[in-house]
Amino acid sequence: MKVPLLDLKLQYQSIKNEIEPAMLKVAESQMLILGEEVAQLEKNIASYCQTEFVVAVSSGTDALLMALMAIDLKPGDKVIIPTYSFFATAGVVARLGAIPVFVDSEPITFNIDTIRIREKINSKTKAIIPVHLYGQCANMDELLKTSNEYKIPIIEDCAQAIGAQYKDGKYAGSFGLMGCFSFYPTKNLGAFGEGGIITTNSKELSEKLKQMRNHGMNPKYYHKFIGGNFRLDALQAAVLNVKFPHLENWHQARRDNAILYSKLFIEAGLSEEEGKTSFDINNKVLLPKPVYQNSGQKNYHIYNQFIIRVQERDKLRDFLSKNEIGTEIYYPVPFHRQECFAYLKNNDKDFPIANGLAETTIALPIFPELTKEQIKYVVEKFKEFFS
Ligand SMILES: *Cc1c(COP(=O)(O)O)cnc(C)c1O
Repeated sequence: MKVPLLDLKLQYQSIKNEIEPAMLKVAESQMLILGEEVAQLEKNIASYCQTEFVVAVSSGTDALLMALMAIDLKPGDKVIIPTYSFFATAGVVARLGAIPVFVDSEPITFNIDTIRIREKINSKTKAIIPVHLYGQCANMDELLKTSNEYKIPIIEDCAQAIGAQYKDGKYAGSFGLMGCFSFYPTKNLGAFGEGGIITTNSKELSEKLKQMRNHGMNPKYYHKFIGGNFRLDALQAAVLNVKFPHLENWHQARRDNAILYSKLFIEAGLSEEEGKTSFDINNKVLLPKPVYQNSGQKNYHIYNQFIIRVQERDKLRDFLSKNEIGTEIYYPVPFHRQECFAYLKNNDKDFPIANGLAETTIALPIFPELTKEQIKYVVEKFKEFFS
């Protein structure tokens, strides 16, 4: 049985009859950049994420870059980020000449270890970027406490977390000064190309960001500050507006898949329960847990990725691949081990959890259209591998 990591064609087939007319409408209008479709997308996302303002932009990476430009981040300033995330989180900081300050991860949620943040703060620290990794919110209570105490803004990296909710039902992107989202095709809400969006409750910031996405121009050909071309295409917005009403169902399907995986791994004797953090004879597979750090309360996890941990990961991955099961490693190299950040002279020993994650995590297929039979087949193959 073939089980790809992701099959976008299945989703397209299921909504083709809605998407094609929407794309044709844009083609007929020849209003190709920003415009009505983009404005509608902004309305949809603002009401969904429960923030007052949103600004649609060219990608998730650009959303993060713009957020840092909007707070006037300067060369030499510092920004605290997790060492274990997708590269964009760190890249945007360094591209502005600022210094990314890496923090280790927390072993159950894989998110930034909020206990380790305070010791890294000094007068140069201008922002904290928590990443809601794989679709589960970081420890926002602690982050907000730290943010308020030190008067350092939080910019949320929500690229993998559109619609994720933190314990009591508050949405990713509604906590910090700004929330940055991606519509890259592999995210839960994916465009037919690149796209992103920034959420904020600040009117002033939203106006600055709208100007920034168009070279800082206002009025036409007058520039008070330097922005860039960070505009979103109307075609992308049209596709996203058609997909938007389906999003909650897709989240639910991913969540159901995650529940089934956990149930089957536990029944197979490969794991005792979700959220274990060390390997032993009864826990060959460490399962993710949709839980608020250091408490029993649940998060609404949207499972952009379903990440488990195993020893002998690379051998297992080969075995799964031979059995036509697609997997991926997110992420094999944390930032403090990246060649491009060697100049920061971080000490590898300061990041034991992230290092462990990099060596043991593996992503299994979780996309909404996956069948129960495919999930059963994946767990069967795990049993075979470990027997
Ligand atoms: C995808 C992703 C981004 C970047 O989004 P793009 O739209 O691909 O530029 C940033 N941060 C994280 C955590 C991501 O997963």
